[in-house]
Amino acid sequence: MSPIGTLEVGVVGCGIAGQAAATFLADAGHRVSIFERFVEPGPSGAGLLLQPTGLAVLRRLGLGDQVERSGARIDGLLGLNHLKHVVLDLAYADLREAAYGLGIHRGALFGLLHERLQRSAARLVTGAEIVEVEHDGRRATMVDKAGGRHGPFDLVVVADGAHSRLRERLMPRATAPLYPWGCIWATVPDAGKVAIAPAMLQQRLRGTTTMMGLLPVGQDLVTLFWSLPAAALEPGQPIDVEAWRTNALSLWPEAAALIEHAAGAGNFARATYRQVTLPHWNEGPVLLIGDAAHGTSPQLGQGANLGLLDAHVLSRALAASDDVAAALALFVRRRDSSVRFYRQASHLLTPFFQSDLSLLALVRDALMGPACMAPGLRTMMTTTLAGLRRGWFSTAELDAEGRYPLED
Ligand SMILES: Cc1cc2nc3c(=O)[nH]c(=O)nc-3n(C[C@H](O)[C@H](O)[C@H](O)COP(=O)(O)OP(=O)(O)OC[C@H]3O[C@@H](n4cnc5c(N)ncnc54)[C@H](O)[C@@H]3O)c2cc1C
Repeated sequence: MSPIGTLEVGVVGCGIAGQAAATFLADAGHRVSIFERFVEPGPSGAGLLLQPTGLAVLRRLGLGDQVERSGARIDGLLGLNHLKHVVLDLAYADLREAAYGLGIHRGALFGLLHERLQRSAARLVTGAEIVEVEHDGRRATMVDKAGGRHGPFDLVVVADGAHSRLRERLMPRATAPLYPWGCIWATVPDAGKVAIAPAMLQQRLRGTTTMMGLLPVGQDLVTLFWSLPAAALEPGQPIDVEAWRTNALSLWPEAAALIEHAAGAGNFARATYRQVTLPHWNEGPVLLIGDAAHGTSPQLGQGANLGLLDAHVLSRALAASDDVAAALALFVRRRDSSVRFYRQASHLLTPFFQSDLSLLALVRDALMGPACMAPGLRTMMTTTLAGLRRGWFSTAELDAEGRYPLED
């Protein structure tokens, strides 16, 4: 046990960041309660790409082998425009020969984290939507929708996702505008290995208004993403599957089998994103982590990885500190510049891939392919993809085995 002693910790949100944080903190001997609004916690959202950073955290939770078995190794990112000109072509092996990412079905990742949480001493409270967190600067109490009070806690970790309601209650100066674009997605079988280059995250682009992505997620499944304006994703707005099918086939004829399968099933899910900026990470003993603190568009494939790193860094900061305030200050010092970089980079880059600014596509198609081949820029782009950036001018390095060395 750290000099800080045993803390009473409350965690809001049983998603990726919340479960990882609750598990680390319970393993460290703190008394942890995690609150989830749904009666049956479960995954929401598409397959995702784990970077070396997120994989390192999952290994630290003892989930490395299971995650590897459930997912699909990804060697890099390949984006072509509709004329098949290269827009993005990045390989993890440029950083270390053994480096890779891992595509994984969100359900599989959720299942592994959830099973690990249940093996920890953390107490899971479901069907509890937290609507308020009150604090006096040292201790905090949560209030649920039914008026139930929970606590007091020495530390409350708010991990209620990009669309967090608690964020605006706790930090009225936080901003979280909805991106004007989002996506639909579906996970389809890839029995015939039609994902073309199976170990790659691939994108096909036409201008800034048409984008399709394919991510192998293991178990012979591929997640297919299709960009759409947020207005078309509002609940109740029908998705014209036949028009989508025609569009997708003309953009990416080689992916016909996957497109036909997705169109036949017709059960697309919808995702919208927020660009979250906080004035600060914590209000007294209440800390925001994960998408609640730094949600962005998923263009750089970092959100889950950042949330996993938040959870690990928080547990290490508590282990190294004498009190909660000092631990949170240490957490902020360790996380702030990297998270700020990813927030800014996502914000700058996303309009080149998803926006109404068609001129940006001309710039993108002319410059990004050559930039991927220019030595300094290629390293910058690959370290960004791998989750290694600590800021605009600073980066972490992978070890000789291609693994991210977690800070202790
Ligand atoms: C289409 C798409 C593709 C993506 N691809 C990638 C990728 O390739 N790589 C990557 O790293 N990231 C990716 N992301 C981002 C990633 O999904 C998120 O960053 C990650 O899920 C955030 O985890 P979280 O735990 O912070 O929040 P969430 O996963 O949103 O979990 C929040 C939890 O809090 C619960 N909750 C909410 N409000 C309350 C409340 N008031 N009380 C109690 N419980 C509450 C919710 O029910 C939920 O269980 C993608 C996102 C999208 C939309």
